[in-house]
Amino acid sequence: MLRTETGQTVKLADYSETDFVFKDVFLTIRLFEGSAEIDSEIRIERRAGTAPDAPLVLDGDELTLTHLKLNGRAVAEADYDASADRLKVRNLPADDEFVLHVGTRIVPERNTKLMGLYRSNGIWCTQCEAEGFRRITYFYDRPDVLIPYKVRIEAPKDAAPVLLSNGNPGESGDLGDGRHYAVWDDPFKKPSYLFAIVAGDLERIGDSFTTASGTEVTLGIYTDKGKSHQAEYAMDALKRSMAWDERRFGREYDLDVFNIVAIADFNMGAMENKGLNVFNHKYVLLDPDTATDQDYAGVETVIAHEYFHNWTGNRITCRDWFQLCLKEGLTVFRDQEFTADERDRTVQRIGSVRRLKSMQFPEDQGPLQHPVRPGEYREINNFYTATVYDKGAELVRMIATLLGPEDFRKGMDLYFQRHDGDAATIEEFVKVFEDAASTDLSRFALWYHQAGTPTLTITEDYDASDDRYTLTLAQSLNQGAAKTGTEPMLLPVKFGLVGPNGEDRAVSASRGGDIRDDVIQLSEAEESFVFENVGGKPFLSVLRDFSAPVNLVHAQSEADRLALARLDPNPFNRWRTLNDLVGERLAKAGSQTGDQPTDPLGNELVGSIVETAGDDGLDPAFRAQVLNLPADMEIARLIGANVDPDRIHAAATSAREAIAAKGRSVFERLLNATPADARFSPDAASAGKRALANAALGYAAVGEGRPDRAFERIGNASNMTDRQAALAILVFRFPDHEMTQRALDIFYERYESEALVLDKWFALQGAAPGTATLDRIEVLYRHPRFTLKNPNRARSLIGSFAGMNPTAFNRADGRGYAWFRDRLLELDAINPQIAARMATAFRTWRMLEEERQRKIHDVLSGLANMPQLSKDLRDIVDRTLA
Ligand code: ZN
Repeated sequence: MLRTETGQTVKLADYSETDFVFKDVFLTIRLFEGSAEIDSEIRIERRAGTAPDAPLVLDGDELTLTHLKLNGRAVAEADYDASADRLKVRNLPADDEFVLHVGTRIVPERNTKLMGLYRSNGIWCTQCEAEGFRRITYFYDRPDVLIPYKVRIEAPKDAAPVLLSNGNPGESGDLGDGRHYAVWDDPFKKPSYLFAIVAGDLERIGDSFTTASGTEVTLGIYTDKGKSHQAEYAMDALKRSMAWDERRFGREYDLDVFNIVAIADFNMGAMENKGLNVFNHKYVLLDPDTATDQDYAGVETVIAHEYFHNWTGNRITCRDWFQLCLKEGLTVFRDQEFTADERDRTVQRIGSVRRLKSMQFPEDQGPLQHPVRPGEYREINNFYTATVYDKGAELVRMIATLLGPEDFRKGMDLYFQRHDGDAATIEEFVKVFEDAASTDLSRFALWYHQAGTPTLTITEDYDASDDRYTLTLAQSLNQGAAKTGTEPMLLPVKFGLVGPNGEDRAVSASRGGDIRDDVIQLSEAEESFVFENVGGKPFLSVLRDFSAPVNLVHAQSEADRLALARLDPNPFNRWRTLNDLVGERLAKAGSQTGDQPTDPLGNELVGSIVETAGDDGLDPAFRAQVLNLPADMEIARLIGANVDPDRIHAAATSAREAIAAKGRSVFERLLNATPADARFSPDAASAGKRALANAALGYAAVGEGRPDRAFERIGNASNMTDRQAALAILVFRFPDHEMTQRALDIFYERYESEALVLDKWFALQGAAPGTATLDRIEVLYRHPRFTLKNPNRARSLIGSFAGMNPTAFNRADGRGYAWFRDRLLELDAINPQIAARMATAFRTWRMLEEERQRKIHDVLSGLANMPQLSKDLRDIVDRTLA
């Protein structure tokens, strides 16, 4: 049995099957104002080999048992123990099969953890992943118990005219007394974490989708009253996702209905419950006046992601929670591919790599480091991490790159064919690709088990007399805390030898290991490749498309790099070359003591950035990415030790000023190229133009020291993208200017009643740089519209302060840390999962200079000594300190 009691470590090595086998379940859920009663009827069989006297032990969490029957008869008191978190039944009948009736009563209104059954804006809804079902009824609440569910919901008609659950709708009817019921039947076997119900007074938009084999699927998106018109883009994204999964992976939808519900209070982004996805409303509701291009892209991604889970997650699920990356890494890879196909592949890749480097690399290089498939955990909620999701996706991407598109698709087909209906493991996943491509991936599989970011070191040698080029690649893994091994791994290194006119030279290695097309299959600690007659010294473009999640060390001259930034036929690498150069320069300037250099980037690099930004032959979205400098946090990671966030901020500010000065005329031109009143369309091309114009506005305002230019834009913007971008310029570049406060006030008045826009308003202010920020945040924290109970709102102010505001959070006097600690404690009493996630803001604390480290250490050890800490928060605090 897997045990998850407080303080106990769950280990992958301890996995064993359940003693009993569940066959199916019928749930009756009666909803009342102030309480809910759950009646669960489970058909159970003793597993062959289970001892005849073995008790049945079921999971619970804050439950109250109301009745317990076995084969229709009440179980004698002596034959069971029921506590809030466990139900144990003894002296079970010897016959193979029996039926257990379990009654529980819960109070959804008091469920502020938002796990299990709770109420949001009056709507009853559930969240069961990972271990929320046990907060509804006693159960085998683990992903390898797969059974069909039948559900009957009874509820008051006025509060809940809409009653939804997984699967297909069955009968429904009136119960008298103002109550009614509906039955739902899910023919697909599923684990408890995919169970869901929703009951409420909801508005719906409907549509339909005809699958490749001709089945018509009824689609519905449900929202709060008055909001359904904001769900149209989500519906469009859903239909495109369904079509894409058929085209790209041959996967069709499998039920008659597919429903999505938008909920205001939700811990995560969204949840893939079978046939009934439940979403944070932030990832459903949009219109041009309240949502930005980034929000549109986010909705599209999350809609696709949850839909794709129907095959990668639901039809094939995880054997245990150690295998979480089996569904998450793979599904993130799938949503990334969807975005690349629907929008632009290069821009998509730049976005994923930025995210990986700013979220996953710091995690993998600090105290919260863990393998993509961990070997143990104390609290599974804390493992929905950038490592499991984003590095997990990188691993699938590496398999695709190593195998090539055809064998990769063959492997995926085999996965669906071989494991449909299974609760599978990572070993089984890797095996399908080994079988499909007849290849050995054992060196690759190490990526799942060895934590840490490997370093890839490149050395080149060109012998002009023989026109011979030698390329040497070395990998190493300097692991840190995890101690999970440092063996050389198989990784794909995509490369090109570029000539002076920007052409990839057709070369093949005369000596060295495995190269397939333009991909080196590196598997040893060090390998060399020799190329003869290369036609003159080439520019090496390496790790194209970021083909492996590594730290790249490549001593290449600045002249070569700037040449590649112009010439490289691989557009991703053009961006990466500039971005890496900027990162290195800012890291150098930001780690220097004494006076800041006024131009940390240097004239050449600044020139190259401005030139790229002004090149109308390039995609505007790409140019906007070039203008978007690496975040301060990314610079901190590059510096690695003794970090002073104020110095990094100063370096980045001078860099921006230098770009602004040099690019003045370019930015002026770009700014005028997109009229502010252009009709809004959320497509990628239009969004790219807006991104470029807004980046230009930022530089123009900075260059001339003119906040009024941004202020003016707020007044005449016709959409939220431009309005928010202008407000962000004021908040980030002119945080203490009176115009900024005025703009914030105007914005507030206009959007006071739009929850998702107010979140932006709080988040911007939480992220405003400088020491004055904390005083303002203390006031905002007492704002009537601020609440810790809504996760989006809590994250907007506190999360953005601790997670996205290095200068204010890391104030030298330590007040930022102390304030944050007090908020964590308040939040922990309400919603431990959110508190624990926010506490990961300390994950890079050991990189800071000593004084700040000492202050953080005091705060963390103070927290660790508090007896009231939830197990979620305690787990993060303990690991961060270790
Ligand atoms: Zn997911």
